[in-house]
Amino acid sequence: MRTVVPLLTAVLLLSPVAGQAQTLQDVARALGAANLKSIEIQGSGVSFQVGQSAVPGMPWPQFNVKSFARLVNYDTASLREEAVRIRALEPPRGGGPYVRGEQRQVFVLSGDHAWNVVADAAVPAPITLADRQFQLWSTPHGVVKAALAGQGTMQGRTIAVALPGRFKATATVDASNLIERVDATLTNPVLGDMAVTVTYAEYRDFGGLKFPTRIRQTYGGFPALDITVTDVRSNVAAEVPVPDNVRQTPNPYARVTSQKAADGVFYITGGTHHSVAIEMQDHVIVAEAPLNDARALAVLAEVRNLIPNKPIRYVVVSHHHFDHSGGVRAFAGEGITLVTHEVSKAFFERVITLPATVSPDHLAKSGRKAVVEGVRDRRVLSDGTRTVEIHHIAGSLHADDMLMVYLPKEKLLIEADAYTPPAANVAPMTPPNPFTVNLVVNITKQGLAVDQILPLHGRIVPFAELLKAAGHSH
Ligand SMILES: [Zn+2]
Repeated sequence: MRTVVPLLTAVLLLSPVAGQAQTLQDVARALGAANLKSIEIQGSGVSFQVGQSAVPGMPWPQFNVKSFARLVNYDTASLREEAVRIRALEPPRGGGPYVRGEQRQVFVLSGDHAWNVVADAAVPAPITLADRQFQLWSTPHGVVKAALAGQGTMQGRTIAVALPGRFKATATVDASNLIERVDATLTNPVLGDMAVTVTYAEYRDFGGLKFPTRIRQTYGGFPALDITVTDVRSNVAAEVPVPDNVRQTPNPYARVTSQKAADGVFYITGGTHHSVAIEMQDHVIVAEAPLNDARALAVLAEVRNLIPNKPIRYVVVSHHHFDHSGGVRAFAGEGITLVTHEVSKAFFERVITLPATVSPDHLAKSGRKAVVEGVRDRRVLSDGTRTVEIHHIAGSLHADDMLMVYLPKEKLLIEADAYTPPAANVAPMTPPNPFTVNLVVNITKQGLAVDQILPLHGRIVPFAELLKAAGHSH
């Protein structure tokens, strides 16, 4: 008896069994989290471009990730991720950066600052802040550290963690006190409360630290990431200083400039994604509500400043990709009618009714409703003073619901992602970008006489530039 009882006690203490309470300390101990300040993981696998499907409600486009490195500093709440990836499909289908061959991406977070590194320059990217903070705190060690720091609680086998205004999540702990999955709600400009799942499997011991070697994520119900981890190092040097230009640009989306493209036609720029305001006799039509609430509200204010005393009646959505439709909810919050391609009508009808509880946006706060109108091949909006034609860009590999706006009198064409002018001193892609070739086919087939392009990325260019980019020598 004397030897059996302590042995049993020891067994009970060491191996959690059903019914025995697991604590955050147990999880921290099992993961080796106590003295962990920073971690670096390396791996490879596949990633998917969230919000860039070819058709609304279809899976996100796939990229093959040749190398994936993620550095996390839990003490400074910073993260640096570098991936080298290549599109799984060529010719491409769907959105996301279209680069032939390998592309390198560097995503950085430090505290409440998020930015990308593009050709050695830091580009502020606060639109990614909630997602990157989720990526940091949903790591197995991040969950337990956040909870131990007072951002969460454990009950049974679940740990609830939340970062107000960004995400709320529930992590499930397995019988060995390791985190096996995270179910989260993440704020998103298009989907409001977006469902995200993360699963962690095949834990291995890396010098006293337990880390999963298989990480899978879904965003909005579709695969977003599937990485096999090959190396983990702990307590590596992990200084992630915030560049001055990032610190000084907390909200780049509010920066708006505009130029008159024709009488009553204004090209609204100042950031990465543009809009166009078109003045009608007694109302205004806006082409594009991109990015997020901050951008949409800034564009709305600029339009009302440029064309006072006329209500904005319509917003034409170029296509459903999240970077081009992230402001749609804010426009709907003003009761403005959305005009989209028929393919995405049902999608947007749903988008403008989705809840946004994690971070209530303009639509959620306004409580207003809006109407979505679908266009199939062509729709003409006219009030006797001006004619605005909305045309489908048929057969685009970029997205099935691409719309362009054509002003026949002014000979202006407004389009997104089918053609983006390269920087002034950069030659267009050869062989030409298939989206651009397709745009020229559509302009020709539909008999549009175009003088100038008002692209929703880039700058105003003469039609000849588009022809050159599409490989037409003339
Ligand atoms: Zn797109």
